[in-house]
Amino acid sequence: LIRQVVRDLPGYQPVDSLEAVARETGHTVHALIKLDANENLYGPSPRVLEALTRPDDYHLYPDASQQAARQALAGYTGADPDRIIVGNGSDELIDLLLLATVEPGDEVIVPVPTFGVYLDRPPLFGATVRVVPRRDDFDLDLDQIEAAIGERTKLVFVASPNNPTGNLVSAQQLVRLLRTGVLVVLDEAYFEFAGRTLLPLSREFENLVVLRTFSKWAGLAGLRIGYGIFPPALAEAIWRVKQPFNVNTLALRAVEAALADLSVQMQKVIRIRLERGRLFRGLRRLDLLQPYPSRGNFILCRVARGDAHDLHRRLLARGILVRKYDDPLLRQHLRITVGLPEHTDRVLQALREIADEVA
Ligand code: PMP
Repeated sequence: LIRQVVRDLPGYQPVDSLEAVARETGHTVHALIKLDANENLYGPSPRVLEALTRPDDYHLYPDASQQAARQALAGYTGADPDRIIVGNGSDELIDLLLLATVEPGDEVIVPVPTFGVYLDRPPLFGATVRVVPRRDDFDLDLDQIEAAIGERTKLVFVASPNNPTGNLVSAQQLVRLLRTGVLVVLDEAYFEFAGRTLLPLSREFENLVVLRTFSKWAGLAGLRIGYGIFPPALAEAIWRVKQPFNVNTLALRAVEAALADLSVQMQKVIRIRLERGRLFRGLRRLDLLQPYPSRGNFILCRVARGDAHDLHRRLLARGILVRKYDDPLLRQHLRITVGLPEHTDRVLQALREIADEVA
């Protein structure tokens, strides 16, 4: 009954629900500090929230052509609206890209460590994943990537800033990759926190896809809004394979509202960027962790003393959730989302206490 690739997948591992964590740790859900999923803890602006409380047309299907949202995104990105498609999170756009392009036996190149979805999804579409390790400083190893490109290579996934390592791909590196002719999926989920984008290269190169999201800068992870800027032929193919009503009415409305209130929304991004510096400096002062510089709304840390999973547990006992990894490449690392100033204070205080405990 069940396809072999599906039987080969690891069992379903639900993300810990906040209720379950609260129960286990004896905290109320409200008291937990959630720094494990790179969410924007400021949330959306009051105007965006207000726009979402007008239940006048929820009995109707959403606009399948996403007209208003795509126009607003064209204004924000400078891209042609015909090349923009909104997805149910950028996660969905990753699936749609694979659905539209992959033939059984094709290969997908993934420089690691990076976002796990690039590794998990291609096999479901019949593709083989070829992982290419990044350099010690997490920079792309372009020689190795070029060496991995072969006749069956369908695409390469590159996140910039990369999750979880926080570093950028340079324009020079991206151009070198694009010149190989392979389709490059540049995932700019966090670009607002870096203040830098390589989207303009999509005017020059027909083999560049740029993925973005409203989950991070716009504080709307719960509404599931991603978008992509695609080369025209690929955009046309994605319109064919996507479900007509993939994005719901609230999400489409939130796109317009968030972009109409851009300056207010961006103030929070600026605050998070400042807070990232404060968290980084605070972490560096502890001898427990070695933080890596980051251009995203998160900081990856190598645990220098003790075991990363043990440190994760000790933070959890104090009501603080951070991201841990089972992947051997990151087993000794934790990723901490940059939250509000009080979250920085709380996590640094907890880490100081733990440092004394494990001294
Ligand atoms: N790309 C990267 C690099 C991410 O880190 C994430 C979220 N963790 C996503 C995409 C998914 O974003 P969305 O919420 O839009 O599906």
